[in-house]
Amino acid sequence: MNKGDSPFLFENIMELVVDEVIEDLLKVPTLQVCRCDRCYIDIKALALNRLPPKYVVTERGEIFAKLGTFRNQVRVDVLKAVIEAIEIVRQRPSHSALSPVFKKE
Ligand SMILES: [Zn+2]
Repeated sequence: MNKGDSPFLFENIMELVVDEVIEDLLKVPTLQVCRCDRCYIDIKALALNRLPPKYVVTERGEIFAKLGTFRNQVRVDVLKAVIEAIEIVRQRPSHSALSPVFKKE
């Protein structure tokens, strides 16, 4: 979505925080959930549907400062939404449980 040459960014920073939280949780080896791309975006969509969007306009380079403050404000809510989304996807992945994603060969 970002236009390469523009000095300005228009961003839903809630989405950035959700991405960070999902990636952190998926690093936990004991977490029983499929790591394929489809499950990742399913988790992301479910979590974002439960959270209010937070659109900001910034100049490039300022996004991380805004993100830091915002992350501290919403981290607990995001964590809760992502954990619930993971649980839904874990129980009912969009693809078949027999798909190659689950094979350990
Ligand atoms: Zn999957």
